[in-house]
Amino acid sequence: MTILSTNTPTEELRRIDAAHHMHPFTNNAELGEKGARVVTRAEGCWLTDSDGNRILDAMAGLWCVNIGYGRDELAAAAARQMQELPYYNTFFQTSHVPAIALAAKLAELAPGDLNHVFFAGSGSEANDTNLRMVRTYWQAKGQPERTVIIGRWNGYHGSTVGAMSLGGMKGMHAQGGVLDGIEHIDQPNWWAEGGDLSPEEFGLERARQLEEKILEIGPDKVGAFIAEPVQGAGGVIVAPDSYWPEVQRIVEKYGILLIADEVICGFGRTGNWFASQTLGLRPHIMTIAKGLSSGYQPIGGSLVCDEVAEVIGSVEFNHGYTYSGHPVACAVALENLRLLEEEKVIEQVRDDTGPYLKEKFEALVDHPLVGEAKIVGMMGSLALTPNKAARAPFAAEAGTVGFICRERCFNNNLIMRHVADRMIISPPLVISREEIDILIERARQSLDETLVALQEQNLMVEG
Ligand SMILES: *Cc1c(COP(=O)(O)O)cnc(C)c1O
Repeated sequence: MTILSTNTPTEELRRIDAAHHMHPFTNNAELGEKGARVVTRAEGCWLTDSDGNRILDAMAGLWCVNIGYGRDELAAAAARQMQELPYYNTFFQTSHVPAIALAAKLAELAPGDLNHVFFAGSGSEANDTNLRMVRTYWQAKGQPERTVIIGRWNGYHGSTVGAMSLGGMKGMHAQGGVLDGIEHIDQPNWWAEGGDLSPEEFGLERARQLEEKILEIGPDKVGAFIAEPVQGAGGVIVAPDSYWPEVQRIVEKYGILLIADEVICGFGRTGNWFASQTLGLRPHIMTIAKGLSSGYQPIGGSLVCDEVAEVIGSVEFNHGYTYSGHPVACAVALENLRLLEEEKVIEQVRDDTGPYLKEKFEALVDHPLVGEAKIVGMMGSLALTPNKAARAPFAAEAGTVGFICRERCFNNNLIMRHVADRMIISPPLVISREEIDILIERARQSLDETLVALQEQNLMVEG
């Protein structure tokens, strides 16, 4: 077998990748024809590929590299921990310093009385934990019939069976089926679904769907509502201002648990440690992952309030993962949080680079293809449209135009993602003003090229 390295020719790497590697969320046959892009190294906000291109990563990997690439401190923390204690579990009445220290740090950073952490290896696992924790909680409280969890269409909570069922991605539901006892309400996506209502009216209407759903199921059967404060994978959907206060009111009125899935929104993405702070939510449980370790190690968890932790603590919770509280992942996460805090990265996003990016990003709405430009902190999206005034979708199948735009971005050495025909950014939080200028310039260039391509292909047509 040949020994592969970053010096192996790209074509060779692509061939072997296609032969043996099944990629997630990918049509692997199509990819095999085309060949994957091979990323070899990264520094700050910049990727290098196997052909030597330098690419601005406006997605922070998969929304996770908040501290930026190439931080030696995180590598050193991992190496130290691997030498001292590479692995031990947290089952059977044992613990270790990295898990203890990270749990305490998270309790300090989290709002309200979210003082307890159940560790997982990823966001999906953490949401599976949440599902079981909610049902176990109500059982332990003597209300075992409160099993239903309400999520949202186009919400994303991960890819395990539990997390995927909580999410509202129909394409995922169609492959393998969903768990019983999970219901969905519509998303607060005013641009696509708001019709003639004002954003504020629409926000209230969508929030009240939660109350209608609770009444339809029966308030004594509902255990929890789960939602992302800002939907990420659904296309960076920012709810109208009227939405969250109404959701909070309804959740409290019926005494159900609120789970804020902060896997993307947490750790500075919205300009505060957590989006629950940005949006004034008071969740009982928060899902965390991604930015927790800036993606340097796989780790996730559930941050749990005092009351829920106390109830769960009164029974044996028959649940856990071999890598719950993995010492190396915890040590790296802790070091990541130290850097975010000491370097005042989140303050910088809130007070300086965030507002700067917002101003430049929102100005893209003057582009003929852009119907809406929405951004909170450092997660933003552009709705592409053939007719702004009508907020019209394209006649072409959803995602056709977004894909064209993504390809243009990539050709211009910019990673932007598309969700259907929305273009998404979520850059590393350490992005500088100069890099923001480059991001915006390349985005505008890519939009211009997309417009030309759409005109040439007769795709500027309303659906
Ligand atoms: C990515 C994501 C998850 C799943 O996390 P994984 O680490 O991929 O399992 C869950 N919720 C949200 C909001 C996410 O963006």
